[in-house]
Amino acid sequence: MYRSHTCGELRIADTKKEITLSGWVQTIRKFGSITFVDLRDRYGITQLLFSENLNAQLDANPLGREFVLQVKGIVNERSNKNANIPTGEIEIAVSEFTILNKSAVPPFSIQDDTDGGDELRMKYRFLDLRRNMVKKNLELRYAVGRSTRNYLHENNFMDIETPFLIKSTPEGARDFVVPSRMNPGQFYALPQSPQTFKQLLMVSGYDRYYQIVKCFRDEDLRADRQPEFTQIDCEMSFVEQEDILNMFEGLVKRIFKDVKNIDYTNIVERMTWEDAMWHFGNDKPDIRFDIKIANLKFPQHTFPTKAAQSALIDGASFGVFDDAETVLAIAVPGCSEYTRKQTDELTEWVKRPQIGMKGLVFIKCTADGTFKSSVDKFYDAERLKAIATAANAKAGDLILILAGAEEKTRKATSDLRMYMADKLGMRKTDEFKLLWVLDFPLFEYAEDDNRWVARHHPFTSPKPDHIDIMINNNPVIEDAAKYLEHPYAGIKANAYDMVLNGNEIGGGSIRIFQRALQEKMFAALGMDAEEQQHKFGFLLGAFEYGAPPHGGLAFGFDRLCAILGGSESIRDFIAFPKNNSGRDVMLDAPSTIDAKQFEELQIKLDLK
Ligand code: ASP
Repeated sequence: MYRSHTCGELRIADTKKEITLSGWVQTIRKFGSITFVDLRDRYGITQLLFSENLNAQLDANPLGREFVLQVKGIVNERSNKNANIPTGEIEIAVSEFTILNKSAVPPFSIQDDTDGGDELRMKYRFLDLRRNMVKKNLELRYAVGRSTRNYLHENNFMDIETPFLIKSTPEGARDFVVPSRMNPGQFYALPQSPQTFKQLLMVSGYDRYYQIVKCFRDEDLRADRQPEFTQIDCEMSFVEQEDILNMFEGLVKRIFKDVKNIDYTNIVERMTWEDAMWHFGNDKPDIRFDIKIANLKFPQHTFPTKAAQSALIDGASFGVFDDAETVLAIAVPGCSEYTRKQTDELTEWVKRPQIGMKGLVFIKCTADGTFKSSVDKFYDAERLKAIATAANAKAGDLILILAGAEEKTRKATSDLRMYMADKLGMRKTDEFKLLWVLDFPLFEYAEDDNRWVARHHPFTSPKPDHIDIMINNNPVIEDAAKYLEHPYAGIKANAYDMVLNGNEIGGGSIRIFQRALQEKMFAALGMDAEEQQHKFGFLLGAFEYGAPPHGGLAFGFDRLCAILGGSESIRDFIAFPKNNSGRDVMLDAPSTIDAKQFEELQIKLDLK
């Protein structure tokens, strides 16, 4: 028997028991003729005491860090108790020990504040995984998965596996492909998600499906993306948007309860995509803090339903605002006393290439109700006050104004809003705010090809009362400059995203389930009948055999875990992640393959 207990288990009540433990040597401390060893396993740490009588044996078989050690001994009360660990009141008086395996000196120390850099820890990920912090993250991930499975099981969802070796499933990214030896010259694609399979399962009558499943997307790895990642993938039949929103609010609330012991009793807010862009400049706004954008000036066609406020800034001969397409302001609470140095720092920040603005205009709303601004020359007190009112600024606030082209300015203002909130500690990792963003546009315009692309994916249905617009209009864009005036630009999707603290944690849609509408959608995306048949014949065919109305969504499992764990990085929550260039530095993958493998695949490399 290797062990009678784990290293996290023994307590004062176990005193005098004869026990056997096995684990890894965390630390060794010698005091004259006695030696203390901390023995670690997945469950905790127990202090071992080797006294004089074992000295000779220890000298002959010296221990080292990370050796695998088995000990037999008696549980004793410790004289020097450690209140920080659950086993801190006891120690083991060792009577016998066996070194089960030696360890080379680890390349970094296996402790919370390790001395190992990122790459080194990734290379020796199996050692990094011994660290408590990493273990806690994986435990949290497991808890999120278990809670998900329990909730979905209780709600009649069935976990059904779908294949990895498939044909392309477009979700807007590039496919990873796998050559087929048995079909020379032909390739499988790895799924970007099980999208079409889950829809086929609905056609088959499995009306509530889920899977915690790997998805593969060959994207350029922007910050904190992984080429393979995990989704909680779900689909339901005979549902409308409202049914889906309710079911999956329930799931996230259950996860909060099970994993964080949080009763999320607030209503989950809902916001249209247009309002999210209008108030926050972003389709996944962080609503934990109440800073909203004041739209002083914007091109009307981008927000057809909103009223212009440009009278507030027009006619002052201030060229920066006069020449700009868009002028947006935010009021940052309590920063009216910012020094020159601080405002200069903010100006530098917005000028960085990632933000790309030319400058920043300030209005300080001082405590005595007056205004100091960098544009005093152009705007008198009354006009500054009107701008401050529009920006919802109070005394003590600092108003920041950006001006430029619509898209860039909106994004920059959104980034600045987040930057200021971070600076002011308004984004607390232990506060959670959920939001549904609804009514996305169905299409986006792809300038390069002068055609429409699906904003979510091509299986997303238009809002019921927009279906006719799609059916009755020709998708061809005659005048690229006026694409926004095309009827398709106004079609809204029956799609929804769930946002948590400024992160999109999930998204999905009510699907198209009629062949004719699906064909119309593919055609709108520029696919002729032949291409439709080649790529999606199976789905179009299935829609002819009694496809039920259906819809679903998928959550980004890794991201959800990271947010619940209070971390920015999904890598910390994946046992064996890839680095920023998509490499597994432990395996050294991707790598070349043998000549024989190429031969079997009948593939010849001809690298450009
Ligand atoms: N397959 C979609 C995605 O991966 C989610 C969905 O529409 O259910 O984003």
